[in-house]
Amino acid sequence: MSVLEHLDDLRRAYEGLDGLALLRALLTEGPLAGRTALVSSFGAESAVLLDMVATVEPATPVIFLDTGKLFGETQAYREELVDLLGLRDVRVVGPRAAALGRYDPRGDLWSREPDLCCHVRKTEPLQEALEGFAGWITGRKRFQAGLRSQLPIIEPEWSSGRLKVNPLALWSADDIERYRLLRNLPKHPLVDQGYRSIGCITCTRPVNSGEAPRAGRWWGLDKTECGIHLQDEAA
Ligand code: SF4
Repeated sequence: MSVLEHLDDLRRAYEGLDGLALLRALLTEGPLAGRTALVSSFGAESAVLLDMVATVEPATPVIFLDTGKLFGETQAYREELVDLLGLRDVRVVGPRAAALGRYDPRGDLWSREPDLCCHVRKTEPLQEALEGFAGWITGRKRFQAGLRSQLPIIEPEWSSGRLKVNPLALWSADDIERYRLLRNLPKHPLVDQGYRSIGCITCTRPVNSGEAPRAGRWWGLDKTECGIHLQDEAA
């Protein structure tokens, strides 16, 4: 039986739950318990979800995509949070050397074909890392707008047969900050420099006040997502 067949039951059973309460339920009982990973960028708002997962079960697998183009500050922040929260199974995954050699030998694919670059550096490694899991947890929120504005809390990923869980889908930026302060969680070091959504160095800039949080990602291009979520949002 595919885990997707539990979608309606899970939505009914956990209607009205999100955040920590939802994670406590899904990670400890039912078809996703022991079969779910958190995928985290260790970016501007990641500490909140990482803290929740660590509170429920610090051995939950956490997948971190190291594209080879990340800020040094993000790597340092990951190490800081892993130590602070006691996360016990952080899996750093990256692009295959053969794929980089074939598609991006000079490291400039991002400037010519960013969709292919994201595919090689993010989508393919993530697909491999998620093999064997029935579900994955993401930190996407509706307030991030664009394709995320209608985000459900539990959603099917038809292409893989997995469920995706978005415990913070309905949270506002203020909710996130309130939780961060309540739990005394450190900020990503680039936040105070105006970065509100943080990806690769080459494709991220700070945003001005009044701009959407993700306006600094792939600015000037008709691209708003790296692709790891696109297939099912477009479906
Ligand atoms: S965000 Fe930019 S550098 Fe990073 S994988 Fe995508 S296109 Fe490549």
